[in-house]
Amino acid sequence: LPNSVGFIGLGVMGKPMVVNLATKLPPGSRIHVHDIVVAAVDQLVASFPDTVVKCASAADVTAKSDVIFTMLPEGAHVKSVYLDSRTGILSALSDPSSPQAAKLVIDSSTIDTATSLFVKEQLALSSPTTSFYDAPVSGGVLGAVNGTIAFFLGCSPRDANIPRLTYFLKMMGGKVIPCGGPSLGLAAKLSNNYLSGIITIACSEAMDMGMRAGIDANILASVFAAGTAQNAICDVFNPVPGVCPKAPSSNGYQGGFRVQLMRKDIGLALDMARRLGTRNALGTSGLGVYAAASEAADCKDLDSRVVFRYLGGIEN
Ligand code: NAD
Repeated sequence: LPNSVGFIGLGVMGKPMVVNLATKLPPGSRIHVHDIVVAAVDQLVASFPDTVVKCASAADVTAKSDVIFTMLPEGAHVKSVYLDSRTGILSALSDPSSPQAAKLVIDSSTIDTATSLFVKEQLALSSPTTSFYDAPVSGGVLGAVNGTIAFFLGCSPRDANIPRLTYFLKMMGGKVIPCGGPSLGLAAKLSNNYLSGIITIACSEAMDMGMRAGIDANILASVFAAGTAQNAICDVFNPVPGVCPKAPSSNGYQGGFRVQLMRKDIGLALDMARRLGTRNALGTSGLGVYAAASEAADCKDLDSRVVFRYLGGIEN
């Protein structure tokens, strides 16, 4: 059956996610889209004139869709898109003149768990027929383009909406992992990025140390791959240019996951850690490295693995 889907936030992740939906939804389906950058909307409408429909606001998208996705930069944007009293998703859901069909609303932005829980609570208070889920993603822009991103879903594996959610999420990605309950998709995502961000710094330092001792970068990477240090950053996203030909580091650190986003995510992870009272020996210094690299002229706006350059690594 054709579906009526909504998508708000058509940035570097959102746009390819919509492209995947547009090519995989059954014929006759519609995707109602909105972004404050009108050019992003117009480009998608031009590519899929029969499927993608331009909407003036998040409320407009919501009124016309049964399943609504949001892919926004930070918590402040999520709050405004959901809760603005005139243009927000909530205003459409609580409009007594619009039909109150059961809707699914899914936020895939990487934000703090408190904002996500607050938005979920506000939606539940105003619209009991709406189900809200956090479903942040991992896999980067390439994963979004190829439809292989993983979704970390903030619900129990026994949630009644999982089949319907999975139906849509699988059109945009690969694995869908229910993480236990509301906001736990985000807690999982922040834990994941904390780990990969810290590994990236450790890998950069260890590679530079071995290379300065005289070991060829490729030999060193193969040592780590064969030894107890084996990890995906070294194997697939090695921060040293030339080791992984397809990695952003081998392409001037272009593409990939921006260093500013890693700073944001490690900052969010540390906020969560503070609230939970966990000890994060490496987190604070790691955040300092990403914060400084985000400001450095030769690093900012580049892939987060550029911390190798920031730390003074030999680039050849
Ligand atoms: P982006 O900045 O490219 O896109 C965000 C989009 O949201 C922009 O087009 C912006 O105009 C739009 N937007 C902002 N405020 C809006 C509003 N009030 N109404 C409508 N649209 C609005 O960001 P991105 O890289 O696509 O990332 C989105 C989220 O996904 C972030 O939370 C990021 O951390 C996360 N993420 C990004 C990557 C990545 O590799 N880029 C990977 C995994 C997760």
